Amino acid sequence: MTTIQTATAAVGIEARGIHLSYGSNHVLRGVELDVEQGTTACIIGPSGSGKSTLLRTMNRLAEPDAGEILLDGRSVMGDDPNVFRQRVGMVFQHFNLFPHMTVLQNVTFGLRRLRRMGREEAEAEAMQQLAHVGLAAKAPFRPSALSGGQQQRVALARALAMRPQVMLFDEVTSALDPELVKGILRLMAELSSEGMTMVVVTHEMGFARNVADQVTFMDAGVVVETGAPERIFDDPQSARLRRFLDQVL
Ligand code: ADP
Ligand code: MG
Repeated sequence: MTTIQTATAAVGIEARGIHLSYGSNHVLRGVELDVEQGTTACIIGPSGSGKSTLLRTMNRLAEPDAGEILLDGRSVMGDDPNVFRQRVGMVFQHFNLFPHMTVLQNVTFGLRRLRRMGREEAEAEAMQQLAHVGLAAKAPFRPSALSGGQQQRVALARALAMRPQVMLFDEVTSALDPELVKGILRLMAELSSEGMTMVVVTHEMGFARNVADQVTFMDAGVVVETGAPERIFDDPQSARLRRFLDQVL
C-alpha cells in the first residue's frame, strides 16, 4: 500500500481544564491533555470514562462547560467550528459516511462545501486520497457496497482530503471484523510515522505500545496517568491503571 501524503505542517493540540456535564452527569472533570506537534497520543480507559466526549470537545462537536482547546498554543474556542474542523479531522467507530452518496461524493463533499473547491479539483483530490488507501476502484459505489474495513478507509481518506493538521480517531477499529483491523492500524501507523499529530482512543493495546509517543489513561472523567508507553504498560503507578491493565492485557 502506498503512503499517505499530508501536505500541511503538524500542529500540537491541547485540552486545558475541560469540564463537561450532561445534566447531572459530570462526564469530564478537569481534563488536561497536551499532544506535541508531530506526535501520536493514545487514550485508553474503561467504557464510560469520557474518552469519546473528550475527543468530541477536541473537534468542537461538543462544547465544554469550562476549559479550552488550543491548537499550536492558541485557543480555538472563538473560531468558527466549521473552519476549525478543517484543521482537525476525525474518524469515528461507525464510519459516519453519508449512505446516499457515492464513495467519491463522500470524499468531495467537505472539499466542495468547506474548502469551496470546484468539482474537478475536488474530484482529483478525492481520487488521490482514495488511491492512497487503496480504494480508487470503489469511487462510484455507495458505502453499503463496501466492507467495514473499506468504509473505514474511505472515512480516513475523507478526513485526510481536508489536509488537517491534527487527526482524532475514536475506536476506529472496534466495529470491524478482526481480519480487517490490521489494515486500518497499518494506515494509522504510517500516518503517525509521517509526522501527523494524532490523538487515538483505542482498545488496541499493541498499537498504543508500539506506535504512541504518549499514552493517557482516563477513568471517571479525569486523566489518571500520562506517560511513555513503557511507563504506562510496564510500570503503572495507580491501582486504577493496574486494575484496568489486568482486565485488558
Ligand atoms: P467512553 O468513550 O470513554 O466510553 P463517553 O465519553 O462515551 O465514554 O461517555 C462518558 C459518559 O457520558 C457516559 O456516562 C455517557 O453515558 C455520557 N454521555 C456521552 N455522550 C452523551 C450525550 N450525548 N448525552 C448524554 N450523556 C452522554
Ligand atoms: Mg467511546
